[in-house]
Amino acid sequence: MDGSPCPLDKEFSDRIAVLLAPPTPQSIQEYYDKLIEATNCHGLRIKYSNKHGKGVYANSEFKEGELILKDQMLVAAQHSSNKVDCLVCSYCFRFIGSIELQIGRKLYLQGLGLSTKKECDYQTFSHSSNGFCQNEMEEAEGNFFMNESDNTGSSSSKNLKADPLPEDLLLSLMNGDLSLPYTRQFALPPVIACPGGCEEEHYCSNLCADSDWESFHSLLCTGQNTERSRRASLFKFIEHANSTNDIFILAAKVISYTILKCRKLKRSHTTEIGKQPSLDKTDEFSFSLLMEAWKPISMGFKKRWWDCIALPDDVDSGDEESFRMQIRDLAFTSLKLLKEAIFDDECAPLFSLEIYGHIIGMFELNNLDLVVASPVEDYFIYIDDLPCKEKHEAETVARPFLDALGDEYAVCCQGTAFFPLQSCMNHSCCPNAKAFKRDEDRDGHAVIVALRPISIGEEITISYIDEDLPYDERQVQLADYGFRCRCARCLQEQS
Ligand SMILES: [Zn+2]
Ligand SMILES: [Zn+2]
Ligand SMILES: [Zn+2]
Repeated sequence: MDGSPCPLDKEFSDRIAVLLAPPTPQSIQEYYDKLIEATNCHGLRIKYSNKHGKGVYANSEFKEGELILKDQMLVAAQHSSNKVDCLVCSYCFRFIGSIELQIGRKLYLQGLGLSTKKECDYQTFSHSSNGFCQNEMEEAEGNFFMNESDNTGSSSSKNLKADPLPEDLLLSLMNGDLSLPYTRQFALPPVIACPGGCEEEHYCSNLCADSDWESFHSLLCTGQNTERSRRASLFKFIEHANSTNDIFILAAKVISYTILKCRKLKRSHTTEIGKQPSLDKTDEFSFSLLMEAWKPISMGFKKRWWDCIALPDDVDSGDEESFRMQIRDLAFTSLKLLKEAIFDDECAPLFSLEIYGHIIGMFELNNLDLVVASPVEDYFIYIDDLPCKEKHEAETVARPFLDALGDEYAVCCQGTAFFPLQSCMNHSCCPNAKAFKRDEDRDGHAVIVALRPISIGEEITISYIDEDLPYDERQVQLADYGFRCRCARCLQEQS
Protein backbone atom coordinates (compact mmCIF):
# COMPACT_ATOMS: atom_id res chain seq x y z
CA MET A 1 0.00 0.00 0.00
CA ASP A 2 1.67 3.20 -1.08
CA GLY A 3 0.65 6.77 -1.72
CA SER A 4 0.73 7.88 1.87
CA PRO A 5 -1.53 10.84 2.63
CA CYS A 6 1.06 12.20 5.08
CA PRO A 7 3.47 14.77 3.58
CA LEU A 8 6.04 14.09 6.31
CA ASP A 9 6.44 10.51 5.04
CA LYS A 10 7.96 11.93 1.89
CA GLU A 11 9.79 14.90 3.33
CA PHE A 12 11.64 12.80 5.89
CA SER A 13 11.75 9.48 4.06
CA ASP A 14 15.53 9.09 4.59
CA ARG A 15 15.37 9.74 8.30
CA ILE A 16 12.31 7.57 8.73
CA ALA A 17 14.16 4.73 7.03
CA VAL A 18 17.01 5.14 9.53
CA LEU A 19 14.60 5.24 12.48
CA LEU A 20 12.82 2.11 11.26
CA ALA A 21 15.91 0.17 10.25
CA PRO A 22 16.16 -2.97 12.39
CA PRO A 23 18.84 -2.47 15.06
CA THR A 24 22.02 -4.47 14.51
CA PRO A 25 22.42 -7.66 16.55
CA GLN A 26 25.27 -5.93 18.37
CA SER A 27 23.22 -2.90 19.39
CA ILE A 28 20.36 -5.17 20.46
CA GLN A 29 22.74 -7.13 22.67
CA GLU A 30 24.26 -3.99 24.14
CA TYR A 31 20.90 -2.43 24.84
CA TYR A 32 19.55 -5.46 26.70
CA ASP A 33 22.77 -6.13 28.59
CA LYS A 34 22.58 -2.58 29.88
CA LEU A 35 18.89 -2.87 30.70
CA ILE A 36 19.47 -6.08 32.65
CA GLU A 37 22.32 -4.42 34.50
CA ALA A 38 20.19 -1.37 35.32
CA THR A 39 17.18 -3.38 36.47
CA ASN A 40 19.20 -5.95 38.40
CA CYS A 41 17.69 -8.92 36.60
CA HIS A 42 20.91 -10.88 36.69
CA GLY A 43 19.12 -14.21 36.53
CA LEU A 44 18.33 -13.49 32.89
CA ARG A 45 20.08 -13.01 29.61
CA ILE A 46 18.66 -11.79 26.33
CA LYS A 47 20.06 -13.60 23.35
CA TYR A 48 19.55 -12.53 19.80
CA SER A 49 19.86 -14.67 16.72
CA ASN A 50 19.08 -13.73 13.15
CA LYS A 51 16.97 -16.81 12.79
CA HIS A 52 14.84 -16.67 15.92
CA GLY A 53 15.07 -13.03 16.92
CA LYS A 54 15.16 -12.21 20.61
CA GLY A 55 14.75 -14.69 23.39
CA VAL A 56 15.11 -14.68 27.16
CA TYR A 57 17.38 -17.31 28.72
CA ALA A 58 18.01 -18.34 32.30
CA ASN A 59 21.32 -17.18 33.66
CA SER A 60 20.68 -18.92 36.97
CA GLU A 61 18.45 -21.74 38.14
CA PHE A 62 14.83 -21.11 39.06
CA LYS A 63 12.69 -23.28 41.29
CA GLU A 64 9.04 -23.88 40.60
CA GLY A 65 7.04 -20.82 41.67
CA GLU A 66 10.13 -18.64 41.94
CA LEU A 67 10.09 -15.06 40.75
CA ILE A 68 11.94 -14.72 37.45
CA LEU A 69 11.32 -11.14 36.56
CA LYS A 70 9.56 -7.99 37.66
CA ASP A 71 9.47 -5.90 34.54
CA GLN A 72 8.86 -2.18 34.70
CA MET A 73 6.69 -0.78 31.94
CA LEU A 74 8.31 1.52 29.44
CA VAL A 75 5.01 3.10 28.55
CA ALA A 76 1.56 2.20 29.77
CA ALA A 77 -2.00 3.46 30.01
CA GLN A 78 -5.17 2.39 31.74
CA HIS A 79 -8.03 1.69 29.34
CA SER A 80 -10.25 4.75 29.16
CA SER A 81 -13.38 2.81 30.10
CA ASN A 82 -11.68 1.27 33.11
CA LYS A 83 -11.19 4.73 34.62
CA VAL A 84 -14.76 4.68 35.91
CA ASP A 85 -14.11 1.44 37.76
CA CYS A 86 -10.71 2.08 39.29
CA LEU A 87 -8.83 5.14 40.48
CA VAL A 88 -5.15 4.35 40.07
CA CYS A 89 -1.82 6.16 39.89
CA SER A 90 -1.26 7.18 36.28
CA TYR A 91 2.41 6.26 36.51
CA CYS A 92 2.64 3.02 38.51
CA PHE A 93 -1.05 1.96 38.40
CA ARG A 94 -1.35 1.35 42.12
CA PHE A 95 -4.87 1.85 43.50
CA ILE A 96 -5.03 5.17 45.37
CA GLY A 97 -7.23 7.05 47.85
CA SER A 98 -9.17 4.65 50.03
CA ILE A 99 -11.55 1.73 49.79
CA GLU A 100 -14.34 4.24 50.46
CA LEU A 101 -13.19 6.49 47.63
CA GLN A 102 -12.89 3.58 45.21
CA ILE A 103 -16.41 2.36 45.98
CA GLY A 104 -18.08 5.77 46.29
CA ARG A 105 -16.46 7.14 43.15
CA LYS A 106 -17.39 4.19 41.02
CA LEU A 107 -21.02 4.18 42.12
CA TYR A 108 -21.19 7.95 41.78
CA LEU A 109 -19.78 7.96 38.24
CA GLN A 110 -22.03 5.12 37.23
CA GLY A 111 -24.95 7.10 38.61
CA LEU A 112 -23.94 9.97 36.34
CA GLY A 113 -24.38 7.64 33.42
CA LEU A 114 -20.70 7.08 32.81
CA SER A 115 -21.34 3.41 32.77
CA THR A 116 -18.57 1.51 31.15
CA LYS A 117 -20.97 -0.16 28.80
CA LYS A 118 -21.90 3.11 27.18
CA GLU A 119 -18.34 3.87 26.43
CA CYS A 120 -16.02 1.54 24.70
CA ASP A 121 -15.83 -2.03 25.70
CA TYR A 122 -12.11 -2.31 26.06
CA GLN A 123 -12.03 -6.01 26.42
CA THR A 124 -12.08 -5.94 22.69
CA PHE A 125 -8.74 -4.19 22.70
CA SER A 126 -6.65 -7.17 23.46
CA HIS A 127 -4.76 -8.94 20.79
CA SER A 128 -7.14 -11.40 19.39
CA SER A 129 -9.38 -8.49 18.56
CA ASN A 130 -8.50 -5.66 16.34
CA GLY A 131 -8.18 -2.68 18.55
CA PHE A 132 -11.55 -1.15 18.02
CA CYS A 133 -14.17 -0.10 20.46
CA GLN A 134 -17.73 -1.12 20.47
CA ASN A 135 -19.09 2.16 19.12
CA GLU A 136 -16.95 1.65 16.12
CA MET A 137 -18.09 -1.92 15.89
CA GLU A 138 -21.71 -1.07 15.83
CA GLU A 139 -21.15 1.57 13.22
CA ALA A 140 -19.26 -0.91 11.17
CA GLU A 141 -22.29 -3.21 11.12
CA GLY A 142 -22.05 -6.89 11.59
CA ASN A 143 -19.94 -6.68 14.75
CA PHE A 144 -16.82 -7.95 13.13
CA PHE A 145 -14.60 -6.55 15.82
CA MET A 146 -16.43 -8.28 18.58
CA ASN A 147 -15.03 -11.40 20.09
CA GLU A 148 -13.84 -12.99 23.28
CA SER A 149 -14.32 -11.93 26.79
CA ASP A 150 -11.78 -12.33 29.51
CA ASN A 151 -11.84 -13.32 33.08
CA THR A 152 -10.08 -10.32 34.55
CA GLY A 153 -13.36 -8.84 35.70
CA SER A 154 -15.87 -7.57 33.28
CA SER A 155 -17.45 -4.18 33.21
CA SER A 156 -20.43 -5.24 31.26
CA SER A 157 -23.67 -4.73 33.08
CA LYS A 158 -25.35 -7.99 32.40
CA ASN A 159 -26.00 -8.51 36.05
CA LEU A 160 -29.01 -7.12 37.79
CA LYS A 161 -28.12 -4.41 40.21
CA ALA A 162 -29.82 -3.06 43.28
CA ASP A 163 -31.38 0.40 43.14
CA PRO A 164 -28.82 3.18 43.06
CA LEU A 165 -27.76 4.56 46.43
CA PRO A 166 -28.51 8.22 47.28
CA GLU A 167 -25.97 10.65 45.89
CA ASP A 168 -25.36 12.26 49.32
CA LEU A 169 -24.34 8.94 50.72
CA LEU A 170 -21.88 8.34 47.89
CA LEU A 171 -20.43 11.82 48.23
CA SER A 172 -19.84 11.37 51.94
CA LEU A 173 -18.13 8.08 51.19
CA MET A 174 -15.91 9.82 48.66
CA ASN A 175 -14.99 12.81 50.80
CA GLY A 176 -14.19 10.76 53.86
CA ASP A 177 -17.18 11.71 56.08
CA LEU A 178 -18.41 8.17 56.02
CA SER A 179 -16.08 5.28 56.62
CA LEU A 180 -16.66 1.58 56.27
CA PRO A 181 -15.60 -0.96 58.91
CA TYR A 182 -12.13 -2.55 58.70
CA THR A 183 -10.99 -0.45 55.74
CA ARG A 184 -7.98 0.78 57.70
CA GLN A 185 -6.38 -2.56 57.07
CA PHE A 186 -6.61 -1.84 53.37
CA ALA A 187 -5.05 1.62 53.46
CA LEU A 188 -4.08 3.03 50.07
CA PRO A 189 -1.65 5.83 49.20
CA PRO A 190 -3.19 9.33 49.12
CA VAL A 191 -4.33 10.89 45.85
CA ILE A 192 -1.76 13.37 44.50
CA ALA A 193 -3.02 15.80 41.88
CA CYS A 194 -1.35 16.39 38.52
CA PRO A 195 1.26 19.16 38.84
CA GLY A 196 -0.12 20.67 35.62
CA GLY A 197 -3.58 20.93 37.11
CA CYS A 198 -5.53 18.57 34.88
CA GLU A 199 -8.29 16.39 36.23
CA GLU A 200 -7.34 13.36 34.18
CA GLU A 201 -4.28 12.09 35.94
CA HIS A 202 -3.72 11.26 39.61
CA TYR A 203 -0.75 9.81 41.41
CA CYS A 204 0.20 7.77 44.44
CA SER A 205 3.19 9.95 45.31
CA ASN A 206 5.08 13.06 44.29
CA LEU A 207 7.74 10.78 42.89
CA CYS A 208 5.27 9.20 40.46
CA ALA A 209 3.77 12.61 39.62
CA ASP A 210 7.19 14.06 38.84
CA SER A 211 8.38 11.02 36.90
CA ASP A 212 5.25 10.99 34.77
CA TRP A 213 5.57 14.73 34.17
CA GLU A 214 9.18 14.43 33.08
CA SER A 215 8.75 11.34 30.94
CA PHE A 216 5.33 11.73 29.33
CA HIS A 217 2.74 14.01 30.75
CA SER A 218 4.19 17.52 30.46
CA LEU A 219 3.41 17.47 26.74
CA LEU A 220 0.02 15.81 27.09
CA CYS A 221 -1.45 17.60 30.12
CA THR A 222 -4.79 19.31 29.56
CA GLY A 223 -4.52 21.39 32.74
CA GLN A 224 -4.82 25.16 33.10
CA ASN A 225 -1.07 25.61 32.83
CA THR A 226 -1.06 24.39 29.27
CA GLU A 227 -1.46 27.01 26.61
CA ARG A 228 -5.05 27.42 25.46
CA SER A 229 -4.89 26.35 21.83
CA ARG A 230 -2.70 23.36 22.68
CA ARG A 231 -5.19 22.31 25.31
CA ALA A 232 -8.05 22.43 22.85
CA SER A 233 -6.08 20.30 20.40
CA LEU A 234 -5.19 17.80 23.10
CA PHE A 235 -8.83 17.48 24.09
CA LYS A 236 -9.75 16.75 20.49
CA PHE A 237 -7.02 14.15 20.18
CA ILE A 238 -8.04 12.40 23.41
CA GLU A 239 -11.71 12.44 22.49
CA HIS A 240 -10.97 10.87 19.13
CA ALA A 241 -8.82 8.18 20.75
CA ASN A 242 -11.46 7.39 23.35
CA SER A 243 -14.14 6.96 20.75
CA THR A 244 -12.06 4.87 18.35
CA ASN A 245 -9.00 3.14 19.78
CA ASP A 246 -7.26 4.02 23.01
CA ILE A 247 -4.00 2.59 21.68
CA PHE A 248 -3.63 6.06 20.11
CA ILE A 249 -3.14 7.44 23.62
CA LEU A 250 -0.28 5.01 24.13
CA ALA A 251 1.21 6.01 20.81
CA ALA A 252 1.02 9.67 21.89
CA LYS A 253 2.83 8.72 25.09
CA VAL A 254 5.58 7.05 23.08
CA ILE A 255 6.03 10.18 20.95
CA SER A 256 5.92 12.44 23.98
CA TYR A 257 8.45 10.22 25.73
CA THR A 258 10.82 10.40 22.77
CA ILE A 259 10.56 14.19 22.42
CA LEU A 260 11.10 14.78 26.13
CA LYS A 261 14.03 12.38 26.21
CA CYS A 262 15.51 14.12 23.21
CA ARG A 263 15.28 17.52 24.90
CA LYS A 264 16.83 16.10 28.02
CA LEU A 265 19.74 14.63 26.07
CA LYS A 266 20.20 17.95 24.34
CA ARG A 267 20.34 19.82 27.64
CA SER A 268 22.92 17.48 29.06
CA HIS A 269 25.04 17.61 25.91
CA THR A 270 25.02 21.35 25.56
CA THR A 271 25.88 21.99 29.18
CA GLU A 272 29.00 19.91 28.72
CA ILE A 273 31.44 22.43 27.27
CA GLY A 274 32.99 21.45 23.99
CA LYS A 275 30.15 19.22 22.98
CA GLN A 276 28.24 21.94 21.19
CA PRO A 277 28.07 21.19 17.51
CA SER A 278 29.08 23.73 14.95
CA LEU A 279 26.11 25.42 13.35
CA ASP A 280 26.17 23.49 10.09
CA LYS A 281 26.13 20.24 12.03
CA THR A 282 23.10 21.17 14.17
CA ASP A 283 20.73 19.14 12.08
CA GLU A 284 22.83 16.00 12.23
CA PHE A 285 23.35 16.53 15.92
CA SER A 286 19.60 16.81 16.60
CA PHE A 287 18.98 13.65 14.64
CA SER A 288 21.64 11.73 16.54
CA LEU A 289 19.86 12.71 19.76
CA LEU A 290 16.54 11.64 18.31
CA MET A 291 18.05 8.26 17.43
CA GLU A 292 19.33 7.88 20.96
CA ALA A 293 15.96 8.82 22.50
CA TRP A 294 14.16 6.47 20.11
CA LYS A 295 16.36 3.48 20.95
CA PRO A 296 14.09 1.76 23.51
CA ILE A 297 11.20 1.98 21.07
CA SER A 298 13.31 0.75 18.15
CA MET A 299 13.76 -2.49 20.09
CA GLY A 300 10.02 -3.08 20.24
CA PHE A 301 8.29 -2.32 16.98
CA LYS A 302 7.83 -4.82 14.20
CA LYS A 303 5.31 -3.84 11.56
CA ARG A 304 2.85 -1.16 10.58
CA TRP A 305 -0.47 -1.40 12.30
CA TRP A 306 -2.58 -1.53 9.13
CA ASP A 307 -0.34 -4.22 7.66
CA CYS A 308 -0.24 -6.47 10.69
CA ILE A 309 -3.82 -6.28 11.95
CA ALA A 310 -5.56 -9.60 11.33
CA LEU A 311 -8.40 -9.39 8.89
CA PRO A 312 -11.70 -9.76 10.78
CA ASP A 313 -13.68 -12.88 9.94
CA ASP A 314 -16.55 -11.13 8.25
CA VAL A 315 -14.49 -8.86 6.07
CA ASP A 316 -14.35 -10.41 2.66
CA SER A 317 -10.80 -11.06 1.51
CA GLY A 318 -11.64 -9.04 -1.59
CA ASP A 319 -12.21 -6.02 0.66
CA GLU A 320 -8.94 -6.44 2.47
CA GLU A 321 -7.22 -3.56 0.73
CA SER A 322 -9.97 -1.08 1.52
CA PHE A 323 -10.20 -2.37 5.08
CA ARG A 324 -6.50 -1.69 5.59
CA MET A 325 -6.84 1.74 4.00
CA GLN A 326 -9.61 2.58 6.45
CA ILE A 327 -7.42 1.62 9.35
CA ARG A 328 -4.60 3.72 7.97
CA ASP A 329 -6.91 6.71 7.53
CA LEU A 330 -8.11 6.34 11.10
CA ALA A 331 -4.52 6.45 12.30
CA PHE A 332 -3.86 9.47 10.10
CA THR A 333 -6.80 11.37 11.56
CA SER A 334 -5.48 10.66 15.03
CA LEU A 335 -1.96 11.68 14.04
CA LYS A 336 -3.12 15.02 12.62
CA LEU A 337 -4.87 15.83 15.88
CA LEU A 338 -1.80 14.90 17.87
CA LYS A 339 0.43 16.92 15.59
CA GLU A 340 -1.64 20.03 16.20
CA ALA A 341 -1.19 19.53 19.91
CA ILE A 342 2.47 18.62 20.38
CA PHE A 343 4.39 18.97 17.11
CA ASP A 344 8.11 19.54 17.63
CA ASP A 345 10.28 20.72 14.76
CA GLU A 346 13.40 18.93 15.86
CA CYS A 347 11.54 15.64 16.14
CA ALA A 348 9.46 16.11 12.98
CA PRO A 349 9.98 12.57 11.59
CA LEU A 350 8.18 11.21 14.67
CA PHE A 351 5.00 12.77 13.34
CA SER A 352 5.07 10.85 10.09
CA LEU A 353 2.33 8.30 9.48
CA GLU A 354 4.98 5.70 8.82
CA ILE A 355 6.38 6.03 12.35
CA TYR A 356 2.93 6.36 13.92
CA GLY A 357 1.81 3.15 12.22
CA HIS A 358 4.83 1.29 13.54
CA ILE A 359 4.32 2.54 17.07
CA ILE A 360 0.70 1.39 17.07
CA GLY A 361 1.74 -1.91 15.50
CA MET A 362 4.19 -2.40 18.36
CA PHE A 363 1.26 -2.51 20.77
CA GLU A 364 -0.70 -4.85 18.56
CA LEU A 365 2.04 -7.43 18.11
CA ASN A 366 3.31 -7.75 21.64
CA ASN A 367 1.97 -9.34 24.72
CA LEU A 368 1.03 -6.42 26.88
CA ASP A 369 -1.92 -6.65 29.19
CA LEU A 370 -1.60 -4.52 32.26
CA VAL A 371 -3.62 -5.86 35.18
CA VAL A 372 -3.68 -4.80 38.83
CA ALA A 373 -5.99 -6.59 41.26
CA SER A 374 -8.52 -4.48 43.12
CA PRO A 375 -8.19 -3.95 46.88
CA VAL A 376 -11.98 -3.61 46.97
CA GLU A 377 -12.19 -7.29 46.15
CA ASP A 378 -9.79 -8.12 48.99
CA TYR A 379 -11.80 -5.96 51.32
CA PHE A 380 -15.12 -7.73 50.71
CA ILE A 381 -13.45 -11.13 50.90
CA TYR A 382 -11.97 -10.09 54.24
CA ILE A 383 -15.41 -9.06 55.54
CA ASP A 384 -16.85 -12.33 54.36
CA ASP A 385 -14.19 -14.26 56.26
CA LEU A 386 -14.75 -12.49 59.59
CA PRO A 387 -16.10 -14.45 62.58
CA CYS A 388 -19.88 -14.53 62.70
CA LYS A 389 -20.59 -11.61 65.00
CA GLU A 390 -18.07 -9.20 63.48
CA LYS A 391 -19.13 -10.22 60.02
CA HIS A 392 -22.74 -9.47 60.80
CA GLU A 393 -21.90 -6.01 62.16
CA ALA A 394 -19.65 -5.14 59.25
CA GLU A 395 -22.09 -6.41 56.67
CA THR A 396 -24.89 -4.24 58.02
CA VAL A 397 -22.84 -1.22 56.94
CA ALA A 398 -21.04 -2.57 53.91
CA ARG A 399 -23.75 -4.73 52.33
CA PRO A 400 -25.71 -1.97 50.56
CA PHE A 401 -22.54 -0.92 48.78
CA LEU A 402 -21.67 -4.43 47.76
CA ASP A 403 -25.20 -4.90 46.45
CA ALA A 404 -25.03 -1.65 44.52
CA LEU A 405 -21.74 -2.69 42.97
CA GLY A 406 -23.23 -6.00 41.98
CA ASP A 407 -20.90 -8.61 40.58
CA GLU A 408 -18.65 -5.87 39.21
CA TYR A 409 -17.33 -5.17 42.67
CA ALA A 410 -13.98 -6.73 41.86
CA VAL A 411 -13.13 -5.11 38.53
CA CYS A 412 -9.38 -4.79 38.36
CA CYS A 413 -7.30 -2.06 36.79
CA GLN A 414 -6.86 -2.93 33.15
CA GLY A 415 -4.72 -1.35 30.51
CA THR A 416 -2.00 -1.83 27.98
CA ALA A 417 1.70 -1.56 28.56
CA PHE A 418 4.95 -2.20 26.83
CA PHE A 419 7.28 -4.24 29.02
CA PRO A 420 10.79 -4.18 27.54
CA LEU A 421 12.01 -7.50 28.92
CA GLN A 422 8.79 -9.47 28.99
CA SER A 423 8.24 -8.54 25.35
CA CYS A 424 11.42 -10.48 24.50
CA MET A 425 9.96 -13.68 25.90
CA ASN A 426 8.92 -16.10 23.22
CA HIS A 427 5.70 -18.01 23.21
CA SER A 428 5.35 -21.72 23.87
CA CYS A 429 2.21 -23.81 24.24
CA CYS A 430 4.01 -25.72 27.01
CA PRO A 431 5.68 -22.72 28.68
CA ASN A 432 8.02 -22.94 31.65
CA ALA A 433 6.95 -19.56 33.06
CA LYS A 434 3.89 -17.37 33.27
CA ALA A 435 2.79 -13.86 34.11
CA PHE A 436 1.38 -14.02 37.61
CA LYS A 437 0.60 -11.26 40.09
CA ARG A 438 1.42 -12.32 43.63
CA ASP A 439 -0.39 -10.78 46.61
CA GLU A 440 2.38 -8.25 47.06
CA ASP A 441 2.37 -7.13 43.44
CA ARG A 442 0.17 -4.11 43.66
CA ASP A 443 1.36 -2.03 40.73
CA GLY A 444 1.43 -2.30 36.96
CA HIS A 445 4.75 -4.12 36.63
CA ALA A 446 4.75 -7.41 34.82
CA VAL A 447 5.62 -10.31 37.10
CA ILE A 448 6.89 -13.57 35.67
CA VAL A 449 7.24 -16.71 37.79
CA ALA A 450 8.58 -20.16 36.99
CA LEU A 451 6.00 -22.89 36.33
CA ARG A 452 8.56 -25.64 36.78
CA PRO A 453 12.24 -25.85 37.61
CA ILE A 454 14.34 -24.03 35.00
CA SER A 455 18.02 -24.76 34.54
CA ILE A 456 20.80 -22.43 33.44
CA GLY A 457 20.82 -21.81 29.71
CA GLU A 458 17.22 -22.88 29.18
CA GLU A 459 14.99 -20.49 27.26
CA ILE A 460 12.24 -18.91 29.33
CA THR A 461 8.89 -19.05 27.57
CA ILE A 462 5.41 -17.87 28.38
CA SER A 463 2.11 -18.50 26.65
CA TYR A 464 0.58 -15.54 24.82
CA ILE A 465 -2.78 -17.28 24.67
CA ASP A 466 -4.84 -19.80 26.60
CA GLU A 467 -2.65 -22.85 26.10
CA ASP A 468 -5.47 -25.22 27.02
CA LEU A 469 -7.11 -24.56 23.67
CA PRO A 470 -6.89 -27.24 20.99
CA TYR A 471 -4.17 -27.04 18.35
CA ASP A 472 -6.17 -25.32 15.60
CA GLU A 473 -7.61 -22.63 17.84
CA ARG A 474 -4.19 -21.89 19.26
CA GLN A 475 -2.81 -21.32 15.79
CA VAL A 476 -5.68 -19.00 14.92
CA GLN A 477 -5.07 -16.90 18.03
CA LEU A 478 -1.33 -16.85 17.52
CA ALA A 479 -1.80 -15.63 13.97
CA ASP A 480 -2.75 -12.30 15.54
CA TYR A 481 0.77 -12.12 16.90
CA GLY A 482 2.07 -12.74 13.44
CA PHE A 483 3.47 -16.27 13.69
CA ARG A 484 2.69 -19.95 13.47
CA CYS A 485 3.77 -21.84 16.58
CA ARG A 486 6.38 -24.54 16.22
CA CYS A 487 6.90 -25.36 19.86
CA ALA A 488 7.54 -28.98 20.85
CA ARG A 489 3.89 -29.51 21.70
CA CYS A 490 2.66 -28.05 18.42
CA LEU A 491 5.09 -30.12 16.40
CA GLN A 492 3.76 -33.19 18.13
CA GLU A 493 0.10 -32.27 17.81
CA GLN A 494 0.12 -31.11 14.21
CA SER A 495 0.37 -34.58 12.78
ZN1 LIG B 1 2.47 5.68 41.58
ZN1 LIG C 1 -2.03 16.89 33.89
ZN1 LIG D 1 2.88 -24.19 20.26
